[in-house]
Amino acid sequence: MVSLGQRRPPPGDLAALAELDEAALLAGLRERFLQQHIYTDIGDILVAMNPFQPLPLYGREVSERYRRFQTDALPPHIFAVASRAYHAMLGRGGGGPRNQCILISGESGAGKTESTKFLLQHIMNLCKGNLQLEQRILQVNPLLEAFGNAQTVMNDNSSRFGKYIQLRFQKNTVQGAKLSEYLLEKSRVVQQDTGERNFHIFYYMFAGLSSEQKEIYGLLDPSLYRYISGRFGTQEVAEQWKHKYQEVCNALDMVGFQEQEQVDMQAILAGVLSLGNVTFEPEESNGSVKVSEASRGWLKAAAGQFGVQEDELLKCLICTTSVTRGEQIQRFHTQQQAEDARDSIAKVAYGRVFGWIVCKINELLAENVDPEVELREIGILDIFGFENFAVNRFEQLCINLANEQLQHFFNHHIFQLEQAAYKEEGLPWETITFNNNEPILNLLLAKPIGLLSLLDEQSAFPQATDKTFVDKLNSSFKGNLHFQPARGRVLGFSIIHYAGKVQYAARGFLEKNRDTLPANVRGLFISSITPLLSVLFTATISRTGTLMPHMKAKVIPGADEKFNSTRKQSAGAQFRHSLMVLMERMYSANPHFVRCIKPNIQKEPGVLDDQVVLLQLRYNGLLETIRIRRDGFSWRPSFEEFAERYGILLVKPGVPLTKESCLEILQSTGLKGWICGKSRLFFKYWHQEQLAKCVEQLERAAVVI
Ligand code: ADP
Ligand code: MG
Repeated sequence: MVSLGQRRPPPGDLAALAELDEAALLAGLRERFLQQHIYTDIGDILVAMNPFQPLPLYGREVSERYRRFQTDALPPHIFAVASRAYHAMLGRGGGGPRNQCILISGESGAGKTESTKFLLQHIMNLCKGNLQLEQRILQVNPLLEAFGNAQTVMNDNSSRFGKYIQLRFQKNTVQGAKLSEYLLEKSRVVQQDTGERNFHIFYYMFAGLSSEQKEIYGLLDPSLYRYISGRFGTQEVAEQWKHKYQEVCNALDMVGFQEQEQVDMQAILAGVLSLGNVTFEPEESNGSVKVSEASRGWLKAAAGQFGVQEDELLKCLICTTSVTRGEQIQRFHTQQQAEDARDSIAKVAYGRVFGWIVCKINELLAENVDPEVELREIGILDIFGFENFAVNRFEQLCINLANEQLQHFFNHHIFQLEQAAYKEEGLPWETITFNNNEPILNLLLAKPIGLLSLLDEQSAFPQATDKTFVDKLNSSFKGNLHFQPARGRVLGFSIIHYAGKVQYAARGFLEKNRDTLPANVRGLFISSITPLLSVLFTATISRTGTLMPHMKAKVIPGADEKFNSTRKQSAGAQFRHSLMVLMERMYSANPHFVRCIKPNIQKEPGVLDDQVVLLQLRYNGLLETIRIRRDGFSWRPSFEEFAERYGILLVKPGVPLTKESCLEILQSTGLKGWICGKSRLFFKYWHQEQLAKCVEQLERAAVVI
């Protein structure tokens, strides 16, 4: 019997596979995975399998081994990606200094967020000279996770927001970092599906606060709160949460939160929970609603925790006040409207706390350098993977749209750019077909007849309902290959995404897209005696994560009273805009790709479920990727570019930037397998490292002389 330890691992680069089909790819990944080689290269793309167990792969010594730009002699590793990005940012390996971005993709629970942490850890180890900032960059993570992560059926520590971290460097010293946050899933504050939990911070608070502190905040037994689902579990879990709570408090101190702000923040969270327990019943006399007798105590508690007048809070819940032609008009809510008002106040309060934390982090990590100094950047994108749940809502649509965009970005780089270049240069090339998702992006984003545009159109129309929205979709997208109307009387629709068909429930789409904050709710919180709450609603948190003074809401004369409260961009339009900004940044940088794969859905170590993995390989387009990386030429410098960069290999002054010089350089290196086009050269992805080696050898020889 051959022991596992003695077997030679299969090659780390699957682009080198002789047989190239799905089965071979799967077999290659499986064999490596079972030997705990969780990382595999496909050319210059890293595939990362989630081991679902701690592996001794990330220690300081390993990080040291992966310091260099050329890591091809070492097994594939997430640290190698970080090193490549870092050195390329500095301009090593040719090409001059350039911004880099690392795009991490995969479905929920595949290991994106863990990969992000390893990338940050290694990059902070590579750079030099700003120890305090380096540590802070690593330490803000527990804070973000406490407020932005939750247990879901897919992942016990699922990020419920997307993030893009930009690390800014002056030469090899990190000078600052900036965090952009995307689409915090606020609805989780008020509702969780079976088997899921609210954001971690609530549980940490209950476990970590002393009984005296709980009394001060007015927190009772956690099982009493409607917004908190999930059993509190074992003593062991409680101990873990307690420890996490301590970690959060330390991070809050470190980020620079004042003690009063921390107290306020916890009072607000307690207020959110109390508010959730307020229930309503019909007022018999006049058809309006009142707070049910049994929950009056919760209303009082919430008002106290928010630092607002009880009757003012009550007003926001049971009626809408608006001003039309100088006259104040009060309209009473139905029971459903009162419940919606309660939940939206809870969501907005939590959302503002989260936004505030991100702002504070950005203040703390902002660079403090002369604006003349040119900074280079490495961006790391950790954004929610494709989602397909039992019930899919507006949030899932946004998440899946983001994934369509990223898939498109990936396709663009891997396939389109490369093939366009072959054509231009007259190279023979059998076109590799790939799954182009442009039609799906069009279905979602086109103007004026795209799903988001139609949603906006309906949202601006007071009489519209989720039903009229669905009718509109059904008539506009009849016959569209990526759209399917719901069967029977179901209020919904399906979209055939690149990763599969997703059925969306349309209830709540309009409401969520309008995302209006009634003017009196803002007034209520601004008047709060809790300073933090007042600040949160006086300032606006901009999309870029900075605080701005609030712009006055425009009152549109003659418009329906409901829309007078706040005129602002819809949630869909805001998300579309922030995605666009992100994509612009990414298209202008040099990309690196990490594809995370979940080996099984039970989160078991050492188990690989063929079907589960195959599905991910398919929709990731990894098979086509291998082929194009093996057969294709991923690096295509112009003659000028190449001669300028590698002219030194000829060891003579004044090398002209011509085709002839290029050929002379290449001859001197003995490189094989490249092609000369009309205006540029075509290289395999590994040629660049080989050339860098030649340069290094030359430099070493020069030192010896
Ligand atoms: P995603 O962000 O893609 O939803 P996470 O990064 O949160 O997924 O990973 C889910 C869980 O899988 C983690 O909480 C951790 O337990 C495990 N995991 C992921 N990557 C690794 C890794 N490289 N080593 C050990 N465990 C991992
Ligand atoms: Mg995550």
